[in-house]
Amino acid sequence: MADPKENVQMEKIVSLCKRRGFVFQSSEIYGGINGFWDYGPLGAELKRNVKDLWWHAMTRQREDVVGLEATIIMSPAIWKASGHVDTFSDPMIDCKTCKGRFRADQTDEIPCPQKPSKCVNECHGEKTAPRAFNLMFQTYVGPVQDDSAVAYLRPETAQAIFAQFKNVEATARQKVPFGIAQMGKAFRNEVTPRNFTFRSREFEQMELEFFIKPDEAIEAIHGAVATVPTTGHPGEPQPNWGWQAWHQYWVEERVRFYEGIGLDRNTLAFHRQTPSELAHYARACVDILFKFPFSKRDEYGELKGEELEGIAARSDFDLSQHARFSGKPMGVFDDDLRAAWGKLPKEKADDLWRRYYDNRKGYLERSGVAPEAAAKQATDDANGLAKGQYVPHVIEPSAGVDRLILALIANAYSESSKTDEKGQTETRVILRFHPRVAPIKVGVLPLVKNKPELVAKALAVRDLLRPWMNVYYDESGAVGRRYARQDEAGTPFCVTIDFDTLGEKPELLDTVTLRHRDDGRQERLAIRDLVNWLLPQIR
Ligand code: ATP
Repeated sequence: MADPKENVQMEKIVSLCKRRGFVFQSSEIYGGINGFWDYGPLGAELKRNVKDLWWHAMTRQREDVVGLEATIIMSPAIWKASGHVDTFSDPMIDCKTCKGRFRADQTDEIPCPQKPSKCVNECHGEKTAPRAFNLMFQTYVGPVQDDSAVAYLRPETAQAIFAQFKNVEATARQKVPFGIAQMGKAFRNEVTPRNFTFRSREFEQMELEFFIKPDEAIEAIHGAVATVPTTGHPGEPQPNWGWQAWHQYWVEERVRFYEGIGLDRNTLAFHRQTPSELAHYARACVDILFKFPFSKRDEYGELKGEELEGIAARSDFDLSQHARFSGKPMGVFDDDLRAAWGKLPKEKADDLWRRYYDNRKGYLERSGVAPEAAAKQATDDANGLAKGQYVPHVIEPSAGVDRLILALIANAYSESSKTDEKGQTETRVILRFHPRVAPIKVGVLPLVKNKPELVAKALAVRDLLRPWMNVYYDESGAVGRRYARQDEAGTPFCVTIDFDTLGEKPELLDTVTLRHRDDGRQERLAIRDLVNWLLPQIR
C-alpha cells in the first residue's frame, strides 16, 4: 500500500480536480457510476492538448506513420481472432462472508466494497474459487437481441489497425517499415476500478502499430541484423534494424515524448516483462511507469510506479491471426527481399528458410493448428519468404490518455505557503504544467476593470492572442488573486495591461507586464512581440 502521506496527496489532487473543473464524477447528480469520469473545462483542454501533441509527434512529424479513425463497435469476429473473446479476462473471486467481489490477484490491496472500514486487508472470510471474468462490454447490434447480434465495445483501439492494415497499405503509399496510429475510446468492465481515473471502465488510448520486416528478411537483404546498445536511444532508424533495434527505438521515442511534456525521466520507471509475464507470441515488452502518489514502494522506499504505456514487440501474431480467421492474406510483397534472396548463397538461404519456417510453425502450433497442417502452412510461408513475401512483425507502443492526464496533474501539483504580516499563513496550489500541455496558455488581465480604455486595450490583446492559443480573460478581483487563480489552473503566463500600456510613461506605450507562473518573475514586453514570444514556449 502507498503510505498515508501519499494518500493525502491523492486526496488533495482529487479535490483540486473537482474544485477547478478538471475531472468530475460521471452522472454525479445521480450518485455517480463506478469507473466512469467526465472532464470539465480545464480537463477537456488538457486532454485535447495531450492528444494533439501525441498525434502530431506520432503522425504529422513523421514520414513513416499514418493515422486511422475506426469505429468502436466492429465485427465480433475481430475479437475472436485477437483472442479477446476467449482470454481477455481477470480472475474474480467473491467473499462468502462480506459478499465483496475482488480480483483474485489484488485481494491484499482492495477495500471490501461492502464494509470498507472493516474489511481492508482483514476480511478472512471464505473465498470462492477464482473464475474468469471477461472484461469486454457486450451489446447487441440491430433490433433482435440474440446470440447472432452480440457485439462488443472495443477494449483497445489496436485491433482495428490490424484489421485495416491492407487497406491502409494499399492507399497510403507506405512500405514496411511504417506505422498506423489511432487514438480513441476503449472500454473494459474492470472488476475493481480504482485510484481515481487510473483504472476506469471507459477510457482513451493512443496506440501505434509499427510494422517491420521479419529479421530473416533483414538478414537476407542486408547480410545481418544491426546490433544496437540495449540502453539509450539508438538514433535515426536504419534499414538494417531488426525488431530489437526498433523496439529500443520506440521505448526511447516515447520517453522523449514524456520528457517533452514535462515528465522528467526521474518521474518515470521501467519494467521489462520477464519471460513468464510475456504473452506467448511477444518477444519483449517494456512498460513505462509513472511514480503516482498511490504507487507501491520498493525495498529502498522508492515509488515503484504504475503503468502509463506498454511497448511490446508482438512478432507477426496479430496480422497472422486475422489472416487465419478472415481467410484474407495479410502479408506484403517486398521487391528488395525477392532480389536479395536470389543472390543468397545456398547455405544462408537454407538457414533463413529454416528459421522462418520454425517461427511460423511455432506460432501456428501455439495457436492450436494441428502439427501436420502447421508444418504444411509453415512450408508455404517459408517458400513465400524466398519469393519476397512475409507477414509484417509489429512494435506496439500503447498508451492511456487518462493515466497520462492523471500523471501530468500529479506531477504538476505543488503548494506554496506565505505568512502575512498578521501571522496568517495561506497555502496556495500551483499546477506547474509544461506550457505545451497547460489548459490555458495566457491569462489576460486589465489592472482594473473600471477604466474603459484599459479594458478595451486588454480585450484587444486577448483578441490578438486568441487565434493562436487558449486565452483566459479575467478582470474581477485584485490582480494578486487573479494570478493565484491562474496558478491553480496551471496557466504558465499572465499578461497585465496597466496605465503604462496606455502611455502613462510614454516609453512604455503598448507594452505589457508578462508574469511567469513558476517563479513570479515579471518582464515588460511590447504587445506586437507577444505572439512571437509565446508561440515557441507553448509548442
Ligand atoms: P493494466 O495492467 O494496468 O490493467 P494493461 O497492461 O491491461 O493495463 P494494456 O492492455 O497494455 O493495459 O493497455 C494499454 C494502455 O491503456 C495502458 O498502458 C494504460 O495506459 C491504458 N489502460 C488500460 N486499461 C485501462 C483502464 N482500465 N483505465 C485507464 N487506462 C487504461
